[in-house]
Amino acid sequence: MSVGKGTVLMKTKDKTILVAGGAGFLGSHLCERLVAEGARVVCLDNFLTGDRGNLVKLQRSSRFELVEADIVEPLPARLTKRKFDEIYNLACAASPPLYQADPEHTLMTSVLGTHHLLKLAHACGARFLLTSTSEVYGDPDVHPQVETYRGNVNCTGPRACYDEGKRAAETLCFDYDRLGRGLVRVARIFNTYGPRLSSEDGRVVSNVVSQALASEDITVFGDGSQTRSFCYVADTVDGLIRLMAHDGPQPGPVNIGNPVERTIRELVDVVLTLTGSSSEVVFRPLPIDDPRRRKPDIGKAERLLEWSPQTTLEQGLRATIAWFETEAAKKPFAGTKDDDIRLTA
Ligand code: NAD
Ligand code: UDP
Repeated sequence: MSVGKGTVLMKTKDKTILVAGGAGFLGSHLCERLVAEGARVVCLDNFLTGDRGNLVKLQRSSRFELVEADIVEPLPARLTKRKFDEIYNLACAASPPLYQADPEHTLMTSVLGTHHLLKLAHACGARFLLTSTSEVYGDPDVHPQVETYRGNVNCTGPRACYDEGKRAAETLCFDYDRLGRGLVRVARIFNTYGPRLSSEDGRVVSNVVSQALASEDITVFGDGSQTRSFCYVADTVDGLIRLMAHDGPQPGPVNIGNPVERTIRELVDVVLTLTGSSSEVVFRPLPIDDPRRRKPDIGKAERLLEWSPQTTLEQGLRATIAWFETEAAKKPFAGTKDDDIRLTA
């Protein structure tokens, strides 16, 4: 069945939707879009990497509620007594230095946390969407990455707590679906950026934009020839909502990402041009297991969801830079990340 925009809007209105990780970068944009479409939204977050500032606009709505809890722990009665139509699980630190800061908690968030949320979905009959990641492909031997590719992940490396956690979470989701406990959808999200990325986050777009605006050295890890495919947040959120609304038989995992691949050096050059910054580019050692290249095959999302990204890197970066400029005026950039805990080879 095709899912046009009107159909998606009808499907969201008047639903009660739980968004775990709703105070984070992607989660807060998702909550805003769901509330705007008429849903009642409960955001569940432990504020590990989320920000209360992301919820300021949402908290003005009577259709928005915040529950502060850690999904690694049994969920509070305030949630388990409720009936939800849909549950989105976005709860998990996504930035390498942040998810590596407490790897055990990161792994448990994906495994125990997803299990707790799946049990809640089963109990109340909610449809469940897991935000998995392109990291399940590891350092890929197949390019571009298609959903049938099983990946090349180092299960003992510093990224494993995140990559293997997401892989195990996917396993839980598909077993749950096969056992007839409820409907699940799994999105494999590729590098998403946009307003509300924290300048403290440590991911490449937030680092480079913060550094360029502060006229600080721009840190490129390795020689900058590694690639990523950057998707603007509004496009990713639209893909997630369409996937949740998809009514066909279990589609399996679906890549949500922008197929335009760029080297990190190219990304830096675009940011330098758009900001007019005179920052110098400095090269730092490449972190261990840093994937060499990443580009989604989005044929499945195009066919099933009639979805493809609408925002170019230049358009998305303009909006991101404008947001960072406003934020920088409120909270000056704390400086280059000398304390980035990523292990290098
Ligand atoms: P983020 O760090 O901004 O948001 C994660 C949110 O989850 C935060 O609000 C954090 O406080 C919360 N959280 C973390 N652990 C929790 C726990 N145990 N209990 C309750 N809340 C917890 O990251 P993001 O970029 O918004 O990513 C959101 C989701 O999308 C993540 O699951 C991530 O793996 C996935 N994803 C994101 C990207 C991306 O490029 N942004 C790419 C692939 C996958
Ligand atoms: N990177 C970089 N400089 C930075 C931060 C990251 O060159 O200040 C590189 C990093 O080594 C990786 C790419 O940019 O090759 C994307 O990193 P990010 O942490 O954003 O996400 P990843 O895709 O690695 O999870």
